[in-house]
Amino acid sequence: MAKVNPKLINELKELGAFDISACYSCGICTVTCPLVQEGHEFPRKIIRYAILGLEDKLVSSTEPWLCYYCGECTQSCPRGADPAGFMMATRRYLTTRYDQTGFSKRLYKSRFIEFISAALLFALTVSVIYLLHGPIVLSKVDLDSFLPTHLVELGDLVILVVLSGLLLANIYRMYRFTVSAKGIPFLVHIKEFIRTVVPHFLTQVRMLKCSRNTINWIMHVLIVYGYATIFILVVVFLPLFQTNIIYPIYNPVRLGGYLASAALIVGAGYGIYGRIRKNTLVRQYSHSTDWLFLTLLYLTIVSGILIDVFKYLNLPLETYVIYTIHLGFVTPLLVLEVPFAKWSHLAYRPLAIYFTRLNDIAKTKSEAHILVKVSN
Ligand code: SF4
Ligand code: SF4
Repeated sequence: MAKVNPKLINELKELGAFDISACYSCGICTVTCPLVQEGHEFPRKIIRYAILGLEDKLVSSTEPWLCYYCGECTQSCPRGADPAGFMMATRRYLTTRYDQTGFSKRLYKSRFIEFISAALLFALTVSVIYLLHGPIVLSKVDLDSFLPTHLVELGDLVILVVLSGLLLANIYRMYRFTVSAKGIPFLVHIKEFIRTVVPHFLTQVRMLKCSRNTINWIMHVLIVYGYATIFILVVVFLPLFQTNIIYPIYNPVRLGGYLASAALIVGAGYGIYGRIRKNTLVRQYSHSTDWLFLTLLYLTIVSGILIDVFKYLNLPLETYVIYTIHLGFVTPLLVLEVPFAKWSHLAYRPLAIYFTRLNDIAKTKSEAHILVKVSN
């Protein structure tokens, strides 16, 4: 018998699903949704799970990740129940359920914990740099002496290993909750992974099935590729990126850094502007974690640009100070957002498409098996 959690709807309301109790289950939202596919109808079904307190059903659903928050359903809902906002809140809820540490739940439910965590990580990073930095050369900008690249690389590596471990643990829990497929050959797992996760992770092309999402998709791609470029430059090419040499403008490292910064400024700026103006249906409500993400991202980009400006103006002390502040913003951005909050959806969305596909293959196989048995 299905377990009922009467508090489920309240938990979702805390995460942004304020109006969903008004739903009278007419199904217009599902008919309107451009992303509904056979066997995976939403959002009405998911709303029913929440209203009836069917926690296990909700947690084992991949559908909340198949929604790309276009707002079509909210526009058409005759009860003003904001199904799009509900789906967004459900994704926040699922993120807290995949995380075994319980920290994600605290982060989403308490602004105080959110703010203190970000402030502590900032202070910790700045303190470590203050204690470990090398000689402060004031006759010229000498970042390599101030913070030797091997120290930054070590920090990169530690953060990368810890965050990847946490995210993989979350993904494993997501798999355990959502995939009921049994008896699918390993090779099919690999083939479907390549067919679904790789293209969807690289393009998020499913987002374009909602005509309202074209601009959002462009901004999303700018942020993802902008950050990926900076990430590769900082993690893989750090000795070339953090250097005292002033490269010409056409140098791939310098040019790549500028293009990535421009992409991030536009992408993150669009997100912040839309949320301040509340200029679309889906921008009416922003959770505090959305603001934390965008604020940290923007501060990281701006401080990163200032490092370059001060370096080229040959202002040594200003460069070292802003570099320290920049790393202070990078740490909470990565540590809080990648395994516990907003950024984890970059992994969960394509994986949800993959896990849905595995379940569909298993279902088709089992139906074919039953048909063979019956016909015998
Ligand atoms: S959310 Fe609105 S459109 Fe969807 S089933 Fe409920 S009342 Fe109908
Ligand atoms: S927000 Fe868009 S994609 Fe999501 S359920 Fe509503 S109509 Fe479908």
